Amino acid sequence: MKEFEINFDYTDEERGETDFENRMVSTTYTPGDEESEVSLRPRRMDEYIGQDKAKENLTVYIEAAKMRGDSLDHVLLYGPPGLGKTTLSGIIAAEMGGNMRVTSGPAIEKPGDLVTLLTNLNDGDVLFIDEIHRLARTAEEYLYPAMEDFVVDLVLGKGPSARSIRIDLPKFTLIGATTRAGQLTTPLRDRFGVLLKLELYTPEQLAEIVKRSATILGIPISDDGAYEIASRSRGTPRIANRLLKRVRDFAMVQGKDEIDAEVAGYALDRLEIDELGLDNTDRRMMEAIIKFYEGGPVGLDTLAATIGEEAITIEDVYEPYLMQLGFIQRTPRGRCVTRLAYEHLGLRPPVSKQVKEANDQLKFFEDTEASE
Ligand code: ADP
Repeated sequence: MKEFEINFDYTDEERGETDFENRMVSTTYTPGDEESEVSLRPRRMDEYIGQDKAKENLTVYIEAAKMRGDSLDHVLLYGPPGLGKTTLSGIIAAEMGGNMRVTSGPAIEKPGDLVTLLTNLNDGDVLFIDEIHRLARTAEEYLYPAMEDFVVDLVLGKGPSARSIRIDLPKFTLIGATTRAGQLTTPLRDRFGVLLKLELYTPEQLAEIVKRSATILGIPISDDGAYEIASRSRGTPRIANRLLKRVRDFAMVQGKDEIDAEVAGYALDRLEIDELGLDNTDRRMMEAIIKFYEGGPVGLDTLAATIGEEAITIEDVYEPYLMQLGFIQRTPRGRCVTRLAYEHLGLRPPVSKQVKEANDQLKFFEDTEASE
């Protein structure tokens, strides 16, 4: 296949080439988050802000399981990264009086890895598997009897001398987290008793999270300062916490003893995060759809190649927020940008086909009249 080249008529710098991992508004965990992730993570249900529906339901299920003296049903949490899936699982484990073991789908390479994890659990423990949609199929098959009957069947030896032994497991709760529930196999999805979708947070909820984090980190912040950070955090607590720390640096250098809206706005402008929380990568993606595909529709893979990002990153990281803002639409034929996106980018939206035809007709009559 012939290599094709895409030329942008602006430089890499103007394009704002950002390394995804270093992106300030990246929703995924980055090493700099370490300090805050541990200390800022809520440990009790009443410290966990927002997600009221998920919280209310879970509280009932936890209460009922405790009354029965049973383990909690297996839980599937889905939603974009950074919304608090790991945090919520830790809270569930604590409420059930158990411990949590954290692993992820890609980390379980062989069924043996999974069996070791399962056999080391105790009654009431939570096994948290992040990115469960990426679990190897061979390992996944061991999960079915483990989830259903709390047993694993191991085959020892090979050929005619092979024998199978059954190991009883403790009554544990599996919590699976995924950014894409649709990619789970049906047998796995069906074995979860509780399915909970986590939603992007409102700026008000994020402002509360920012204030809570600021108190823990000992950073004085005003209400409007917290709101300024919150409204630029793309509905994601992980980003809100990260921006809070960066804004703190600006406030310190400016000799401010409190973060207010002014220094927060200044710092975030300097970090090139606009008033809606969009950074250069978001803008570049929307501009590419406008520039090269007349606003869309453009297929996901083509778009990914055009802007040099992975299709999966676009789907999991950029799109959820852009769709919530109503800037991007997913259609069966591909992605389209909306009038709102044009307006946000300061561009004139294209005239629709019907309006264009009407204008052409009008012009035709005007021209004919003028020539008569
Ligand atoms: P996920 O597992 O969905 O990627 P995490 O559970 O790791 O997200 O959450 C990222 C960070 O965001 C946590 O360290 C925590 O400080 C913060 N956080 C998430 N959800 C909440 C919440 N509901 N209230 C307060 N802080 C939260």
